[in-house]
Amino acid sequence: MTALPPGSTIGILGGGQLGRMIAVAAAQLGYRTHVLAPDAESVAAQTASSFTRADYHSRIVLDEMAASCDVVTYEFENIALDPVEYLAGKVPVHPAPAALGIAQDRALEKQFVDDLGGRTAPWRKVTSREELADALAAIGAPAILKTLRLGYDGKGQVRLASAQEADAAWEAIGGRPAILEGHVAFDHEFSILLVRGADGAMTSYPPPKNEHADGILARTTLPAPGEIAAQWTEAAALAGRIADRLGYVGVLACEFFVGRDGPVFNEMAPRVHNSGHWTIEGAVTSQFENHVRAICGLPLGDTALTAPRVEMENLIGEAAHLWAEILAEPGAHLHLYGKRAARPGRKMGHVTRIAPIIS
Ligand code: AMP
Repeated sequence: MTALPPGSTIGILGGGQLGRMIAVAAAQLGYRTHVLAPDAESVAAQTASSFTRADYHSRIVLDEMAASCDVVTYEFENIALDPVEYLAGKVPVHPAPAALGIAQDRALEKQFVDDLGGRTAPWRKVTSREELADALAAIGAPAILKTLRLGYDGKGQVRLASAQEADAAWEAIGGRPAILEGHVAFDHEFSILLVRGADGAMTSYPPPKNEHADGILARTTLPAPGEIAAQWTEAAALAGRIADRLGYVGVLACEFFVGRDGPVFNEMAPRVHNSGHWTIEGAVTSQFENHVRAICGLPLGDTALTAPRVEMENLIGEAAHLWAEILAEPGAHLHLYGKRAARPGRKMGHVTRIAPIIS
């Protein structure tokens, strides 16, 4: 792929904060961005060069997008596959739709990783109440029942302390196709943020420790504790095999638990990721810039830390009202996403705290 020159247009499917931060990074490199999203108010559109408010399935809109964009990317993995595949027939789309197809189906995703020699929690696909009973007999409890599709931030999943809770769990997920996963006892969670260029070059960021609250990422911290650092090489190697097998171009996020015998793969997101927001100030090149570099065929940027200690805290709901206090803190970088209503559980922004380099 020849590099897209500055002035080229990047299409972004999805109108949320990830698209917003991709658009900012693209603008810095001299690219234009065009956002397509159905939302009346898109926080990505606020920072993009242009915006089409439309359904993803309109062929007229997709044809226009293909004609006006030099490359297209997406910022959320629950977008329907069909419009992405349609676009890919007309304009380069990165990451390739195949990555999206796998990430959208938890069973395909786990099988894909198992086949690549990755370590996953014991799991079984479950499409009926009877299969749930069989899976529980095979895997045991405690376990987690996760819907095959459309789960994120802990949504679409139920924990089972014992097999007696099977009826309630099956009802709670609405009897939808799912996987049952054995509970992994872990002390830490971390993620590998890998970027693969159009020429196959790859690099990954130092892995942060991720802490969740109510199923939503609350905080990422670097450097991560030794238990995570010890599993970085193996986890990054798996992420690299995933990216190579998919011919992946762009940023790929893979989430892991620190297992007793090595990193346990939980899930992947074929996009920039919340656990990489710290890279805007905390790494030499941000995940957003590296995503843009990759999809535009440019050389990848350095992923090294810029400070001895970096912490990213999500501002969920009313926590964003603390903006004035945060701005008064030395070393704090505030990011607000331009959303109007601070509803509970809604990601309104984040703050990255950088420890000063003491010489
Ligand atoms: P997920 O939607 O798969 O990312 O799950 C959300 C969160 O639930 C994870 O970040 C973990 O904290 C927890 N979790 C998910 N799967 C497991 C598991 N098999 N064992 C223990 N905790 C889990």
